[in-house]
Amino acid sequence: MSAGAPDTALSFAPARQRAPRGTVLLGTIAACFVATFTACSEATPANTAEPASASPIARIQTQPVAPRAPSNVLLIVIDSLRKDRMSAYGYERNTTPRIAELASDGVLYTGAVSQAPWTTPSIGSLMTSRYPSSLGIETERSVIPESLDMLAERLQDAGFATGGVVSHTFCSTDWGFAQGFDSFDESNILGHDAVTSAGVSDRGIEFLEANAEAERGDRPWLLFLHYFDPHFAYNAHDAFPFGGPHPDYAGRLHSGMLFKELNAQRDELSPDDMTELARYYDSELAHTDAEIGRVLDHLRATGEYASTLVVVAADHGEEFLDHGRLGHAKTLYDELVNVPLIVRYPGGAPAVIDDPVGLIDVYPTITEFVGTAAPDRARGTSLYDAARGRHRTPADVFTETSRYANLRALIEGDHKLVLDVSTGGVVLFDRRTDPHERIDIARREPQRAKRLAKRVRALMEMALEDVVQTTDRTLSPEEEERLRQLGYL
Ligand SMILES: [Zn+2]
Repeated sequence: MSAGAPDTALSFAPARQRAPRGTVLLGTIAACFVATFTACSEATPANTAEPASASPIARIQTQPVAPRAPSNVLLIVIDSLRKDRMSAYGYERNTTPRIAELASDGVLYTGAVSQAPWTTPSIGSLMTSRYPSSLGIETERSVIPESLDMLAERLQDAGFATGGVVSHTFCSTDWGFAQGFDSFDESNILGHDAVTSAGVSDRGIEFLEANAEAERGDRPWLLFLHYFDPHFAYNAHDAFPFGGPHPDYAGRLHSGMLFKELNAQRDELSPDDMTELARYYDSELAHTDAEIGRVLDHLRATGEYASTLVVVAADHGEEFLDHGRLGHAKTLYDELVNVPLIVRYPGGAPAVIDDPVGLIDVYPTITEFVGTAAPDRARGTSLYDAARGRHRTPADVFTETSRYANLRALIEGDHKLVLDVSTGGVVLFDRRTDPHERIDIARREPQRAKRLAKRVRALMEMALEDVVQTTDRTLSPEEEERLRQLGYL
């Protein structure tokens, strides 16, 4: 891989030295554009039994990058986007070429963890740098409290023009997510089977155009775009057929099938059904990627790209029978919580970082980069420290869910411990030797299990120390019916 590494001076230092997996792999991203899935598998441990250390690792000389203030911020969250289905992370189908292109100009994190496996707590944690349990988000009705200083509020106070475009109820005004946004567009909240990525990009570009006109480009902006198409129902898009259905396929699935209907048949799905389902899902990814590309093209056309910090993440992944289920929210396996995260720092250089980081780190990363105060009682730490060559304290990452199951998990290096709060039971995985998390080694490594369980409990307590006054949303009969139709209640 090192043969493909750029030979220009590079600016991103190792976040920390952790053998055997390389902290920073150079050239991987560029090679991923043209290489096969196999050639890129070093960066995608979930896709391969081979540890990343199989690849030669180029270490980088520290060369600090100064923040470029004022800088714009484009924060993109793609709902239900599985990391190992992205070509940007080495997937065999070219599902995300535009995100890969962005990553070639930024930092691709392979060990990023969302703090929850469903929308409200995950994006809530990202927007507050607090753990979901401290936000009190436990059910479909849980709302982000008004009292918190959310990312958009912080940047609005710092003089940014702030725009948000969302396409799902669970991150809408009614659920508390419009706090701090000058404009917050919800016209693309159209339900699970609607195709909305183009609408999200259109509204986002409109915000950028309006801001450019009003401010003549003098005022920095924050634009939050939330894309929903990869979320079920999965629709095949004509522009991205990925070979089309197999000529012999006469199975039970069709594009746009409602999740309830699909999930009811999950125990009978054949390998051919799963292949067809993958094609729909991959097509949704490619469609969304192209729409994100349109926003990036707009920034290049207006000359704003050079001064824009771009963050691309997924709120959680998606299950395709990896552990017997479809959808998301019910477990903390890697197909749900090991999410894509790409940060393009203006003036930075490409790098791949394998260390565990959290979406909870995004808020302090953004505030540090744009030179404004960190969030109050942030539980995340800035990723930009490492990008500037500063030492970043080795992190473990905490993730949790209280909906359907009451689970807490800790990722420390290659190990992941999951605690079932209801039963007190724990399972321990070594994700390096067991990337699909099938072998519980808690009995084989009791000391490690005990230590990590203690740490999980300490983090649970720490999160609860921060609990803010929370409210559950009272749903109108219509809203209740709509959520029921969508399969949430
Ligand atoms: Zn979601």
